[in-house]
Amino acid sequence: MASHAQNDISAGFLHEYKSFATDAVHAGSEPEQWNSLAVVPPISLSTTFKQHAPGKHAGFEYSRSGNPTRNCLERAVAALDGAQYCLAVASGLAATMTITHLFKAGDGILCMNDVYGGTNRYFKKIVAEVGLDVSFADFTKLEVLKAALKPNTKMVWIETPTNPTMKVVDIQACSDIVHEHNKDTVVVVDNTFMSAYFQRPLALGADICMYSATKYMNGHSDVVMGLISVSRDDLYERLKFLQNALGAVPSPFDCYMCNRGLKTLHLRMKQHFKNAMAAAKFLEADPRVDKVIFPGLPSHPQHELTKRQSTGCPGMITFYIKGKLEHASTFLSNLKLFALAESLGGYESLAEHPAIMTHASVCEEERKELGINDTLIRLSVGLEDEEDIIADLDQALNAAHPKK
Ligand SMILES: *Cc1c(COP(=O)(O)O)cnc(C)c1O
Repeated sequence: MASHAQNDISAGFLHEYKSFATDAVHAGSEPEQWNSLAVVPPISLSTTFKQHAPGKHAGFEYSRSGNPTRNCLERAVAALDGAQYCLAVASGLAATMTITHLFKAGDGILCMNDVYGGTNRYFKKIVAEVGLDVSFADFTKLEVLKAALKPNTKMVWIETPTNPTMKVVDIQACSDIVHEHNKDTVVVVDNTFMSAYFQRPLALGADICMYSATKYMNGHSDVVMGLISVSRDDLYERLKFLQNALGAVPSPFDCYMCNRGLKTLHLRMKQHFKNAMAAAKFLEADPRVDKVIFPGLPSHPQHELTKRQSTGCPGMITFYIKGKLEHASTFLSNLKLFALAESLGGYESLAEHPAIMTHASVCEEERKELGINDTLIRLSVGLEDEEDIIADLDQALNAAHPKK
């Protein structure tokens, strides 16, 4: 029965990427790379590596420029993204910073208008301040993207689905438009919400795929990290230089942890999809809920596009509870299984109030425009039992809207 349900919810989506599970388990972890033949990559804490003669070394000099444990993680992620290369950095924002350092004052950056709050803050408050030309547009409308491209546009930043309103952007169509405008303009996709298991931006025409690995890629809410995947040699060489020259590198221990998380990425994502689909259907059918936004539901405006460019959907659900702020607040305070907390993508279910919590830094006018109001609630559906997840949502809805 369970496998039947699984097949049903994946119907119409892209097929699972070939050998994904095998790569998740094995890529980058070959025992033959170690004299000890260790099956699990060791945590290599040494900051420095002995040289045979000046400049003659075994591939590692200093742990910022290269580290054996980090290497294993980077090779694993490259395989899962269908990329030539991957670079690991200290956080998702460190990935954004490292990528942005490909450009200089006067260059244009065009960004999706609804992106992670920290990305918005970095582009507006730091990048624009040092003389880059930052602008925003709604890429769900291709003609708007086309009109927003300028002669100086050097990077186009896509996030899909967006946070928290779950708009889905057509990666292939956007990449084609941007590259037709200028083949050298770099298209970046923030793939944090989807993870490598559900979406491969590089196969859809993007030049760079980045993650906050803090979320699904690590998946256990115990590491802050960023990842950058790329196949173009010129971009890789420059980004590798920047990884070392800027120095925002992750610790070997965190690299070990993230690589450990990747071993079960495919299993976790399948279960997130299954649980989220059940929760989304429950909420959509409930009279105490105004509206559910989940790309896996036919009611989502870009449901067909989601099926065309993804293999499934993660555990992220946004919904509007009936009533006012007090109803949202009562609902959130009464959840027992879901923890009221920021962040997402871990094995545990989380719920939050974007207007007060994650998106408080977005100004009220912009929030209004994006639909981030007082009744909007964001769920990160975890890996608990489906019945328990739904029972918790049901009892918290009862608390907000007591039966008369
Ligand atoms: C969390 C997040 C980031 C930032 O990543 P950190 O690891 O917190 O620095 C970027 N993009 C998205 C979509 C995120 O959810």
